[in-house]
Amino acid sequence: MDGAWKIYTPGERWRGGPAHEIRAILATAGHTAVGYRLPVLELIRTHDEAGVVGHLGPDLLGPDWDAGEALRRLLADPARPLGEALLDQRNLAGIGNIYKSELCFLARVTPWLPTGALPAPERLVAAAKRVLEANRDNPGRRRTTLPALTAPLYVYGRSGRPCLRCGTPVRQADQGDGSRLRPTYWCPRCQSGPAPAGPASDRRAP
Ligand SMILES: [Zn+2]
Repeated sequence: MDGAWKIYTPGERWRGGPAHEIRAILATAGHTAVGYRLPVLELIRTHDEAGVVGHLGPDLLGPDWDAGEALRRLLADPARPLGEALLDQRNLAGIGNIYKSELCFLARVTPWLPTGALPAPERLVAAAKRVLEANRDNPGRRRTTLPALTAPLYVYGRSGRPCLRCGTPVRQADQGDGSRLRPTYWCPRCQSGPAPAGPASDRRAP
């Protein structure tokens, strides 16, 4: 989930990032859409759209956000590890690998907890929307912690560093279905639930 589209009106200053990160500019008389850091860009005809985005779950930042449907999809496979279910864009569209770890921390469960065991799942969905909305205009400065804390993120990228809540070293392990493993972070003290089956590390990242 890298990259971002920013919409500007004529005369408005472009604030989405430095010019060298711009990958595409689409303009009409009233609006200009600027694509920053896009890894992939495909142009498709309007009548083919459903075949591309029709499988996506409710968009956390979309105008037709549907919390109930997102919750239903997220919990559809109760044995699935929460971190994998959060990243699956067919459940909720918009959560990337950073927010996956951060949202599990906020929910105080490990990313390996089966979704069926998640307490108050509706609160996690609400937190996902709140966090993404709070960060939508600052894609380069992601933050899930309170502004009073020195680090912007609770656990992501903080392997071996003290948990901001309890001081225990943050751990890191890969999570995924084998075809795509993603670095995943959690606090073994603040977050309850299973730990990964494979190797985990609390070595401090260089
Ligand atoms: Zn902790």
